[in-house]
Amino acid sequence: MNKTPVFKVVVLGARGGLHEDNLSAYLVAPVESTSYISLDAGTILAGIRKCLEKGGFDDIKTPESSNLTPDGWILQKHVKAHLISHTHLDHVAGLVLNAPDGSKKNILGIKQTIDHLRDHLFNWKVWPNFSNEGDGFQLKKYRYIRLKPEQEYKINQTAMTVKAFKLSHCGYPSTAFWVGAEDQYLLYFGDTGPDALEKTNSIGKVWDYSAPFIQNKRLRAIFIEVSFPDPRADDQLFGHLTPSWMVHELKRLSSRISTQNTKKPLEGITVIVTHIKSTFDKNIKVIQTIKEQLDELNDLGVKFIIPEQGERFYL
Ligand SMILES: [Zn+2]
Ligand SMILES: [Zn+2]
Repeated sequence: MNKTPVFKVVVLGARGGLHEDNLSAYLVAPVESTSYISLDAGTILAGIRKCLEKGGFDDIKTPESSNLTPDGWILQKHVKAHLISHTHLDHVAGLVLNAPDGSKKNILGIKQTIDHLRDHLFNWKVWPNFSNEGDGFQLKKYRYIRLKPEQEYKINQTAMTVKAFKLSHCGYPSTAFWVGAEDQYLLYFGDTGPDALEKTNSIGKVWDYSAPFIQNKRLRAIFIEVSFPDPRADDQLFGHLTPSWMVHELKRLSSRISTQNTKKPLEGITVIVTHIKSTFDKNIKVIQTIKEQLDELNDLGVKFIIPEQGERFYL
């Protein structure tokens, strides 16, 4: 592929369960910038600390004049907004727990996500109301921004844009975010079941939108979940994907791209595999198994990456 990187990604949390210190959260910024957004916010501080250890924030210096620790400096000064796919705890715990010591930020999501944060989390019963709406005294650390689906918004204090697409996650609303910088894009899926089982065309609509950008080489990567290895009964998926369902969805995308020049329309596309759930069964190596199953199924020529907490990469 042609490719000077456009985006920088820092993995704050990469998994979908059994690691309460490593749950879905990805910092994204344009390559030359250190003004990040987070895509979901399951784990924030533990991820920032891990990345500091690994040298992944060597482009950010805490000024000597500041009394902040390096992790505090990054959280307060360099994470400009949170984009939340849905309000399950593994996607919001980091922003809830860090609200008291964070800086003022916007939280972006579709209406249902924002309403659920307002009604069920920041309501003084589960946690103080750090937001600008809802029950009781409003501490106004977070300002809610409701994204209308399929409309593009500028993300304040960053050089990025976002467009939200609704997903179905065991019938519960979830979101895919189409994130732009310059004229290039990343596609991030929150938790989602396969369209065939959710009885929707939610992912199909995202693919309809994505196909021309792939054709024009303007989509840099797709973040999409695989929660469980194969085989897993459809009625035990609870709104998630397996390797075979995820590849099935990628094939639906592939079939939307005209194949005049190539037999493999998705050849070389980077697919970042999120939300793998570990297991307590000591005989199952989930990550290795999922990687092998994806490689086995991969006749599309896509490049699968299973991200690790604390790493930084360029897209
Ligand atoms: Zn979920
Ligand atoms: Zn989840």
